[in-house]
Amino acid sequence: MLSIRNLSAAINGNEVLRGINLEIKAGEVHALMGPNGSGKSTLGKVLAGHPTYKVTGGEVIFQGKDLFEMEPDERARAGVFLGFQHPIEVPGVSNASFLRLAYNKKAEAEGRDELDPLEFDDFIQEKIKVVKMDAAFLDRSLNEGFSGGEKKRNEILQMSVLEPTLAILDELDSGLDIDAMRVLGEAVNHQKSPKRALLLITHFPRILETVHPDQVHVLSSGRIVKSGGMELAMELEERGYDWLKAEAVGRG
Ligand code: ADP
Ligand code: MG
Repeated sequence: MLSIRNLSAAINGNEVLRGINLEIKAGEVHALMGPNGSGKSTLGKVLAGHPTYKVTGGEVIFQGKDLFEMEPDERARAGVFLGFQHPIEVPGVSNASFLRLAYNKKAEAEGRDELDPLEFDDFIQEKIKVVKMDAAFLDRSLNEGFSGGEKKRNEILQMSVLEPTLAILDELDSGLDIDAMRVLGEAVNHQKSPKRALLLITHFPRILETVHPDQVHVLSSGRIVKSGGMELAMELEERGYDWLKAEAVGRG
């Protein structure tokens, strides 16, 4: 589904990704871990098509197509979804209309029927149950005044509405209390499908205990320095990241 080959990217002339290689197959869940500033969010934004990051080398193939030949909106319609680490607030745009417009754009691209506000209301009521969100959040402005955890819940709601092919969830777990983490971890599990790939960016192993990734990768200074299974995440929980940085430096 996703093949990242020797990807490098820079922001303001500063090379942040320095040769990333990663293969994710349909049906798989991969976790991307790593210390602050290692380039995790940058990778997510480069895949989604954020305009201020410059791809300086390598290629990304998504479902057989060159991802960088596609505009950000084409990527979204083709099924790429990025759940932001810091979702932005959009005063004046109701959450429900935002979700419905996004849903309808995707439905249009896939040749499915669009939903009018009443039909969408039935649809969304089912979706908010999964993330245990109060219906009042639908009438509020998008993310405006939402707490950190409420914003994350809303990102997962967006994912479940858009049913992406490739979902990249950036620090879904930051700012969540333990109960919310379990609820959102289970909502992510609900999204697992043989037709969908998930890339979960996190620096804490806890959410992985609910989500159980197939593979865990560690990013350090813009490179994947180690890959493994759940045992690698547990080792990081015990030992932190410094030993990996030292190993990476040792290897040059
Ligand atoms: P992570 O998500 O792993 O914590 P990021 O991808 O957010 O890391 O950041 C990687 C590096 O890129 C950091 O050193 C950060 O300061 C730098 N960076 C990110 N965005 C910008 C920007 N807009 N301008 C300059 N440097 C940036
Ligand atoms: Mg980040």
